[in-house]
Amino acid sequence: MFENNEYQAYTPGNFVSIPQLSRLSEQEKREIKIVAEVLPFKSNSYVVNELIDWDNYSEDPIFRLNFPSREMLIDAHYKRIANAVEQGSDKKEIRKIANEIRLELNPHPAGQLKMNVPKLRGRYLHGLQHKYNETVLFFPSQGQTCHAYCTFCFRWPQFSGMDGMKFASRDADNLTAYLRAHKEVTNVLFTGGDPLIMSTALLTKYLEPLLHPDFDHIHTIRIGSKALAYWPYRFLTDKDSDALISLFERINSAGKHLTLMAHFNHPIEISTQAVKQAIIKIRLTGTEIRTQSPVMKHINDSAEIWAEMWKTQVSLGMIPYYMFMARDTGAHHYFNISIKQAHDIYRNAYSQVSGMSKTVRGPVMSAAPGKIHVVGINEIGGEKIFVLQFLQARNPEWVRIPFFAKYNENASWLTDLEPFAEEKFFWQDEFEAISRRSVSEAIYQEEE
Ligand SMILES: *Cc1c(COP(=O)(O)O)cnc(C)c1O
Ligand code: SF4
Repeated sequence: MFENNEYQAYTPGNFVSIPQLSRLSEQEKREIKIVAEVLPFKSNSYVVNELIDWDNYSEDPIFRLNFPSREMLIDAHYKRIANAVEQGSDKKEIRKIANEIRLELNPHPAGQLKMNVPKLRGRYLHGLQHKYNETVLFFPSQGQTCHAYCTFCFRWPQFSGMDGMKFASRDADNLTAYLRAHKEVTNVLFTGGDPLIMSTALLTKYLEPLLHPDFDHIHTIRIGSKALAYWPYRFLTDKDSDALISLFERINSAGKHLTLMAHFNHPIEISTQAVKQAIIKIRLTGTEIRTQSPVMKHINDSAEIWAEMWKTQVSLGMIPYYMFMARDTGAHHYFNISIKQAHDIYRNAYSQVSGMSKTVRGPVMSAAPGKIHVVGINEIGGEKIFVLQFLQARNPEWVRIPFFAKYNENASWLTDLEPFAEEKFFWQDEFEAISRRSVSEAIYQEEE
């Protein structure tokens, strides 16, 4: 029934062997190779054969999603890396330049990342993040890669040669030790990369311990994954796919709420026979599928795309969850749209769908102080404003108190916004105090 179920990865080393690439000019292929020195690049046989429309590749959203292109780097960066490659610099030199450019593309200083890493008995627990009281994020070290890479992804600093196996048991022990000590946590979110890149045997090692009565406070287990979009055969024909489906059944039968936080950027990703079969198979285990995506130029910047995506998701039994603003990292200038544009797309799409799709919240900025929802645009005393609220916050008391920012047509992130009619946002002083505290702790920790 399925023709492309033999997983074949395409990377900078072998992508020229993709038959469909004969449609690209030599120049285009060279550019892909050059940009791929900086941005991550990986595609696979399913994406190439079933998702991308090669007749129209240059406008195709899935092609854009997987294949780096020249415009994804600013001119200065492109020229620097292109020069190095074309002059035949050695691998080390190219890597060094690529890393310098990457640093300029990555706005997360170390302290920021440290802010969410929890401690147990004075020791930082790497592989965990605990930002909102109820939910712990867990990054299993073998899950820090994906079936294909999104060119917009903010996680790409993680995709560099992580040596997983030897940390596995330590990671799992960190997780269970932390959860035993934190009964306020009700949710665990396995994330990555893509945890479903792992074998079922490995996933079982991580997930099954949580079914023990010690973890009765964990009522929801989430798996953040793009496998449905990039490799639905993970649930259908991979050699341990049946075992994965039984694992899902066991978790649900144990009385946990298991939910796949599925990442879909475009309706094409939910159009193939393979993905539809995979969705049915997962849903039959009792697992819910919630969907989320950033809104991005060149990929999904139209209300029609979003309305279609939500409607189709609901008709396939999935639950629309978040529409995110793209993070300010990587090829942000290429994918970036303004808060105003994102809001218009959301509102227009939202007005086209029934209540079944209106579970979706957006646009949402997952920013340092919390998940900030752009509620709308309005006027107060003749002045235009953005109305905002926290859905999740570093301090839960900030949640769902509407606050106002001056309207700014070009703003594309929280940091571009200014408070309306006040010196500071109501949460700002407290947030700055929290940041100072955790950064100084983190620095102290590093010096130990
Ligand atoms: C988004 C996010 C969560 C989950 O938030 P929900 O609103 O519960 O989906 C948890 N932790 C972090 C750090 C997040 O960014
Ligand atoms: S699948 Fe997720 S983690 Fe992987 S590249 Fe895409 S956005 Fe990033």
